[in-house]
Amino acid sequence: MSSLQQSGPALRLLSLGAGVQSTVVLLLACDGLIPSFDHALFADTRWEPRAVYANLARWAEHAERKGIPVRTVSAGDIRADALDPRHRFVSMPLHVRNPDGSKGLARRQCTSEYKVRPLKMAAWQLLGYPHPHRVPRGLFAEQAIGISTDEFTRAKDADVAYLRNVFPLLELGWDRARCLEYLSERGFGETVKSACVGCPFHGNAGWRWIRDNDPDGWAEAVEFDRVIRNGYPHATDQGQPLRGQYFLHRSCKPLDEVDLEPRAASRRHLHLVGADAEDADPDGCSPWSCRSGAAVSGEAAA
Ligand code: SF4
Repeated sequence: MSSLQQSGPALRLLSLGAGVQSTVVLLLACDGLIPSFDHALFADTRWEPRAVYANLARWAEHAERKGIPVRTVSAGDIRADALDPRHRFVSMPLHVRNPDGSKGLARRQCTSEYKVRPLKMAAWQLLGYPHPHRVPRGLFAEQAIGISTDEFTRAKDADVAYLRNVFPLLELGWDRARCLEYLSERGFGETVKSACVGCPFHGNAGWRWIRDNDPDGWAEAVEFDRVIRNGYPHATDQGQPLRGQYFLHRSCKPLDEVDLEPRAASRRHLHLVGADAEDADPDGCSPWSCRSGAAVSGEAAA
């Protein structure tokens, strides 16, 4: 196996989740307030709200003018794949009502498959050793992750030697509120939370936002919720029907029958600070804060 002595990173990458925090990191680099990036990488599940794609196009244009190329990587279309009986199913964290009436949560494989894996493959390629070549020992990319101080417990090291995570917002001591303020100051105040349209992690505020702001996305989510009720088409076709029922909403009710209205004063999805438990989105989907088996075959652990 080849090896080389490398004191610093060969590349500086940004894992651009296209939500509030990672967008702030991108803008900070564009503004010269933190070191620049060689590439910003967006892992596209192809089922983000329309507003996320619109924002992404705007930031990409801005970043590229500042010399930071924004590149989209993708493992496919999470919605189309899940509904395709010929496609191996990749489990989303769907809410399950078991035959005995108890509730559960299906395994989450989607973050690994649709986000972590394509980001790792891109890093390999950008380092000059596209899969399945091994990245020589000592060669690594620094990867910035947008994690703010209010969610510091999500900051984790990368699980491979060729990526080393850094957390610029933690170093600056910025929380989500400061990030929102900065986005507004910079004219990017309409940044929305990034997640798949049909992500079962949405709280009521997230679902309401999709219903009220992305009618096509809402229709897709309602239809998806209906179609997966008794399991993924692929699994059902393979003679593996679900014992129980799947739902996108945590109440285990059909999405279009759930009362999504807030109990207290309405809070916008864009600025979801202090929302009540039913309204709030739980931890959600950050590629680098969960360890759900995203190893690319042949890679060595850190
Ligand atoms: S946003 Fe939700 S559905 Fe999409 S990859 Fe992440 S956990 Fe899975």
